[in-house]
Amino acid sequence: PPDQAAPDPSKKTLVILGTGWGSVSLLKKLDTENYNVIVVSPRNYFLFTPLLPSCTTGLIEHRSIMEPIRNILRHKKASVQFYEAEATKIDYEKRIVYISDDSEIKGDISHTEVPFDMLVIGVGAENATFGIPGVRENSCFLKEVGDAQNIRKRIMDCIETACFKDQTEEEVKRLLHMVVVGGGPTGVEFAGELKDFFNDDLKKWIPEIKDNFHVTLVEALPNVLPMFSKQLIDYTESTFKEEEISIRAKTMVKKVTDKYIQAEVTKPDGSKELETIPYGLLVWATGNAVRSVVRDLMSQIPAQAESRRGLAVNEYLVVNGTENVWAVGDCAIANYAPTAQVAGQEGAFLGRLFNTMAKTEALEHELETLSERQSQAKGDEERNQIFDEIRERQKQLRRNKQIGPFQYSHQGSLAYIGKERAVADISWLSGNIASGGTMTYLFWRSAYLSMCFSTRNRVLVCVDWVKARLFGRDVSRE
Ligand code: FAD
Ligand code: NAD
Repeated sequence: PPDQAAPDPSKKTLVILGTGWGSVSLLKKLDTENYNVIVVSPRNYFLFTPLLPSCTTGLIEHRSIMEPIRNILRHKKASVQFYEAEATKIDYEKRIVYISDDSEIKGDISHTEVPFDMLVIGVGAENATFGIPGVRENSCFLKEVGDAQNIRKRIMDCIETACFKDQTEEEVKRLLHMVVVGGGPTGVEFAGELKDFFNDDLKKWIPEIKDNFHVTLVEALPNVLPMFSKQLIDYTESTFKEEEISIRAKTMVKKVTDKYIQAEVTKPDGSKELETIPYGLLVWATGNAVRSVVRDLMSQIPAQAESRRGLAVNEYLVVNGTENVWAVGDCAIANYAPTAQVAGQEGAFLGRLFNTMAKTEALEHELETLSERQSQAKGDEERNQIFDEIRERQKQLRRNKQIGPFQYSHQGSLAYIGKERAVADISWLSGNIASGGTMTYLFWRSAYLSMCFSTRNRVLVCVDWVKARLFGRDVSRE
């Protein structure tokens, strides 16, 4: 089509899958004029996931933490092609990605193929359910904007249904029981935000739910937030106690129906007991699972036979067993936790790597031309001049080739736990700072504001915070 820039045949085609933390950080660093860059993602925006739990209660509006990918791409020097589509299959041998437009509106063509010379996979992960029956059908997840909107709607639906005329007491209790499964940071942050919503707004606006609204966090392990220090785990658990959020540790969910969960509880004496816990809202936050497109690619590469949790990559983030495929973020296994921090640094590293690779190729090409010119040179003076130029290019080339492997620099872990408190494990300089409390919360807010991608996002998030403080959160059910 005339409006699409024709690919430059002298350049390699670099296909980037996804518009999350990994891919967008890569795009931000990449000198796009070196490649024909194509981005494929079913989401035409970047999502600032750390503030997603705040969208479930309307503290922050979801659009405040979205950044249109077109806005990021329009600032690049050379144009980048974006296709809003899902990569359904990667054929490694043929170097083709099959893509499909699964949005509501489809044109005559909604499935096609994109050939690549180089491929970066940054498709993230999907929600782990461990095949537990009923999870997919009955729970809400918390990964995407749609999930947060769904939760927000459901919280209010449960409340309004509980307030329905002549509702039975038992049903009111069930509907107002908000259960979160998974005591990792996602579950903890959501439980904290939900209880804030209740304390700040709901119990004032709808006092009749006051005695029955309850939040329970269910965790299979003996404690929540296993990646934090013991001191911060204790701090989180005591804050939850003050907030009256029940933590049900050593409780492994085995089955989910539309009205209750069934869990195996380990008693202090080590015996196990099955318990039925009724719920109105169920939020499932038990971590990550591998996406099918990634699993399928893994099955095509013998070197990935041992990988289970994602694409095993080397220290340059090259997918083991391939030459021209890289992986970043939650879909890559490089011995780091699946966090935005890691994905962002990996993406930025690849951006620098690709810029260097392009420079190296250009230098090698120049060197070839120079040595040809040298062999055809007429006099000594010309030959010497070319010799100097060659020496200079060789020096540049050596410097260029010195790009080291990816090294992750951990800036610390930070989680909001409700009641205007946050916990932070921060490793600055050489010491480790473990901190919890209101100051940490203020730090949490300013840290997120400074991390928020654009000035536009920063302003929108600040306005949302002020709006909620002045007028309360919006309790209308859309
Ligand atoms: P993602 O950011 O998930 O992006 C994946 C991209 O791939 C998306 O654009 C998606 O649409 C696209 N995609 C999916 N399937 C396909 C396909 N088939 N073809 C093409 N594209 C596809 N980490 C922190 O470090 N700090 C935090 O405070 C924090 N808070 C979090 C809060 C929540 C609620 C959640 C869910 C996660 C949080 N994380 C946090 C983790 C962090 O969000 C992830 O580790 C990070 O998003 C991983 O980045 P990624 O680029 O691998 O994947
Ligand atoms: P997670 O993997 O960190 O935690 C999931 C929890 O669910 C585990 O503690 C596990 O024991 C529990 N679980 C699993 N199956 C269960 C079952 N059947 N019954 C009861 N409990 C069960 O998952 P997450 O919280 O979604 O986080 C995913 C990734 O995103 C992590 O790497 C995390 O660090 C990152 N993240 C970071 C932040 C932050 O830094 N503030 C916030 C959210 C997510």
